[in-house]
Amino acid sequence: MSIIGDVIESTKAIIKGMGVTFSYIPKGKWTVEYPDEPVTVQPRYRGQHLLHVDEYGREKCVACFLCAAACPSECIYIIAKDDPRSPMERIGIEERYAEVYNIDYGRCIFCGYCVEACPKDAITHGYNFELSVYNRADLLKTKDDLLITKQVQSRNYRVASSEEDVDSEYKEV
Ligand code: SF4
Ligand code: SF4
Repeated sequence: MSIIGDVIESTKAIIKGMGVTFSYIPKGKWTVEYPDEPVTVQPRYRGQHLLHVDEYGREKCVACFLCAAACPSECIYIIAKDDPRSPMERIGIEERYAEVYNIDYGRCIFCGYCVEACPKDAITHGYNFELSVYNRADLLKTKDDLLITKQVQSRNYRVASSEEDVDSEYKEV
């Protein structure tokens, strides 16, 4: 192809590409100025795990290790301990509780198997998505990071209502 042919083809390609770019300018913007504006998460969003407590503040986890056994990434580390005090003085709902409960978010794939495996509803996914860190070691979260009574939540988000079609918002982009 001649140089003139090349120039014509390149110009046509640039005009076509810019046409696509300009066609998007009048359309609505989906960029969210987080954290000034809230991010919308879906009800089924799987964020950082939450370890739950009962109405008396006792930890629901009984250190049965089922979540760790179900985890395909082997990123849950538990040390079980017995607490022989009376039921209302205990740390957990039963004598046995997790003295240590760590999740390594450098390995977790947010599959939810641990949640499904738990017989006590002691662990669920929360909505906290602010997990970025500068140091890989900081991806290891301990019980204090995971307990629902202690976990620091993402700064500004809202959960979509069940009628909201959040999925199609993102498909339109
Ligand atoms: S979400 Fe999946 S990978 Fe993450 S801790 Fe639970 S079972 Fe393991
Ligand atoms: S979170 Fe649930 S499955 Fe995991 S050790 Fe505790 S009680 Fe068992």
